Amino acid sequence: MRVGRRLLPPSARHKLKSSLTRLPPPPSWAHGRVVVLCYHSVHPTKHFSSATPELFAQQITWLKNNCRLIRFSEALHQTRVSQKDDVPFVAVTFDDGYADNYDFALPVLRTHEVPATFFLTVGLIEREPRVVERFRQQRAGTYEDVEPLTWDQVLRMREAGMEFGTHTWSHPNLAGLDDESAAVELARPKEVLEQRLGETVTTFAYPYGKPRRHFTSETMRMAADAGYEHGASVTFRALRKGDDALAIPRFYSTRDSLTQLESKIGGSTDLLGVWQERAPMWLARLVSPEDFTY
Ligand SMILES: [Zn+2]
Repeated sequence: MRVGRRLLPPSARHKLKSSLTRLPPPPSWAHGRVVVLCYHSVHPTKHFSSATPELFAQQITWLKNNCRLIRFSEALHQTRVSQKDDVPFVAVTFDDGYADNYDFALPVLRTHEVPATFFLTVGLIEREPRVVERFRQQRAGTYEDVEPLTWDQVLRMREAGMEFGTHTWSHPNLAGLDDESAAVELARPKEVLEQRLGETVTTFAYPYGKPRRHFTSETMRMAADAGYEHGASVTFRALRKGDDALAIPRFYSTRDSLTQLESKIGGSTDLLGVWQERAPMWLARLVSPEDFTY
């Protein structure tokens, strides 16, 4: 809370508040929608951050004013009980496990009492050199840029009401691994995280996250065998009642303005998700070559 206050002087907060009242709530046809957002880093200067702390505070404030914030693990169930006149339901998630989540996201989440879910790359939290190096290379940054949360911070975040899942041990493309290696990447982080938290862990996010590119029905079966009940993917659409609990779609948050955020919550970009799921792979490769890098 202290960090959020320091970053947002009273004049800026006043300006923000008045600008928020000008942005309309999601359209009524968005009511009852269930949307999961995927953040990575929240930081003032990192080139790959999902939002600056100021923008993150604006987004969470708008979400609190216009939607109901729920836990990721409740999202699929919510699609089955939502009424048409309910406001949209939104779950906030974070991938990878960067230390900036503690420094810059947690104060905002605490202030607004948002129960976010953090998917940890457990080999990164353990500071295994090859895993740290992989993140440094993939994010084209310094060690400070990819500095992970400490276990002590993880425990304090849990005390503040946050939820934790795994994001593999070393952040590979699971669809590109042999079965034995994929099974280890699913089971090992679960075991370590459960020891650290002293509780069963049943949520998980696929690295890179795109269906058919980074996980397959075989990967989902292996995740179920490892004991996971909810799997987070990256598919740009809202949840549907019939979605598989091990392939729950999420939107990336990419420094979205409030208008862009509103269009994700409202549904005007859902066709992108349908494209990601259904486009022939040869066409997807041409249109989004970045999805085939790992
Ligand atoms: Zn990741």
